[in-house]
Amino acid sequence: MKSKKISQLLIGTNNKGKLREIKALLPKNIKIFSTSDFNLKSPKENGNTFRENSLIKASFFSKKSNQICISDDSGLEIKVLNNQPGIYSARWGGKKNDFDLAIKKIFKKLNKKVPNWRNRKINAKFICALTIYWPNGKYKTTTGQIEGKISNIKVGKKGFGYDPIFIPRGFNKTFGEMPPKKKYKIDHRYKAFQRIKKFL
Ligand code: IMP
Repeated sequence: MKSKKISQLLIGTNNKGKLREIKALLPKNIKIFSTSDFNLKSPKENGNTFRENSLIKASFFSKKSNQICISDDSGLEIKVLNNQPGIYSARWGGKKNDFDLAIKKIFKKLNKKVPNWRNRKINAKFICALTIYWPNGKYKTTTGQIEGKISNIKVGKKGFGYDPIFIPRGFNKTFGEMPPKKKYKIDHRYKAFQRIKKFL
């Protein structure tokens, strides 16, 4: 069955970096709402996977607003740290979303686990799950990922979260150094979006 075209959509996130990025991906003819239009706080993310958490957010925001909603759950997996921080990527920033703190935590763990890690290749990837949820309970979820490595120092102020320490494969700059327009066309969110956009 072909879905009816969407004319308006709520972006279900309270993360300003994600809001900017998802807005940039959406077709310009769709009227976009954000969680602040409905004064909505985020739900508890108690799923075990990115997919589960994106569904928890999309269904929560859709039910609260009675709008079709798109939500993302995403994070950074560092192979040598048993894929940490993973679904806990936001929580490593603490209550204040302090990503200086989260990045320090990563460096501290790498110092402990990998001798001389700054001179080695630390494989990592960003993962994103996107869910579109309709008020009638129907939903679609897709995922995307981008492989890369951890930079041995924090560089760049253009992005958000872990952008200053992630260098995507095939590039020699961190996401934090890239112009947003360039990052938005290659990253995990973009790839998940390519798979879900046919439902819009
Ligand atoms: P959550 O999906 O709300 O649990 O948050 C995911 C967390 O992963 C964000 O707060 C960021 O710290 C991190 N993250 C996800 N995507 C990106 C990205 O594109 N750049 C940098 N950090 C990201």
